[in-house]
Amino acid sequence: MSVTSEQAKQLLSGQLAVWESARNNYKALESVRVKEIILGDCTVKVQFNPARIVSSAAKVDTKSLKERKCFLCADNRPDVQEGLPAGDYTWLINPFPIFPEHFTIPVNEHVPQLIEKRFGDMLRLAQAAHDYVLFYNGPKCGASAPDHAHFQAGNKGFLPLEQAIKRCRYIPIRSEASARLSQVEDYICPFFLIEAEKADDAEELFGSLYHALDRKEDETEPMINLLTWYEDGKWLACIFPRAQHRPSCYFAEGDENILLSPASVDMGGVFITPLEKDFEKIEAAHLEKILSEVCLGREKMYQIIEKLK
Ligand SMILES: [Zn+2]
Repeated sequence: MSVTSEQAKQLLSGQLAVWESARNNYKALESVRVKEIILGDCTVKVQFNPARIVSSAAKVDTKSLKERKCFLCADNRPDVQEGLPAGDYTWLINPFPIFPEHFTIPVNEHVPQLIEKRFGDMLRLAQAAHDYVLFYNGPKCGASAPDHAHFQAGNKGFLPLEQAIKRCRYIPIRSEASARLSQVEDYICPFFLIEAEKADDAEELFGSLYHALDRKEDETEPMINLLTWYEDGKWLACIFPRAQHRPSCYFAEGDENILLSPASVDMGGVFITPLEKDFEKIEAAHLEKILSEVCLGREKMYQIIEKLK
């Protein structure tokens, strides 16, 4: 069973009719301040979004997680929140949106955020709801519920990545029947791209990449952000390997501090600042430094590519 784009849109309009605080947050998003910044050949956006403080400042250490009620478990959701069943998953509207149409898609049971066995599910969810970009934040890469497996979805036409990818240069790494794995150059940070007409082929290549990425000793999987969408009969999946969860400015004190905790949306070219002082201050040099800290460097990328050849 799957959820189509039309069903998702109906869920959103139905929920906004009855859920006041979510409606206010979506309304506020219409007048949210956005500025554009040029990074190399790409124009990215910075969005001042105070409601996102809940996510950007989320405590995701084991102790804090144990002490809070999981907001993705059906029993703990607000009464007003309705879900659309999609097999093992449920589509929910995200009450703290970044996209004009923003959904969270948790698994129906409380199990940890891990991608390896769920990449195929993600592809199928993206194909059924092809007006949306689906994304996955690893447990230490921006997921605010790393203890409960979930994807998110946002409407197409919002992330600069979607357009940028059409202009970037690809360096092919390997192929698998209908699928191709490349490294993408000239974007704001390095990433891997899988293009595929068949889900099985994409899964095969994702598996190879997953196993070529380093996993830190204290981590449950290699650190990644992942965005995928379906268009013109094929999937595009962008895999951003990560070096760090949060950049040094997140922990800095005084003027140096910027509360920005990068996840898939930021990798997609929309940087979220929940605090106004950061929105005012932030410029290209800050973003370049943040990306250089949280993404893999060129040399590390080449080591992974060598393993894949
Ligand atoms: Zn849960």
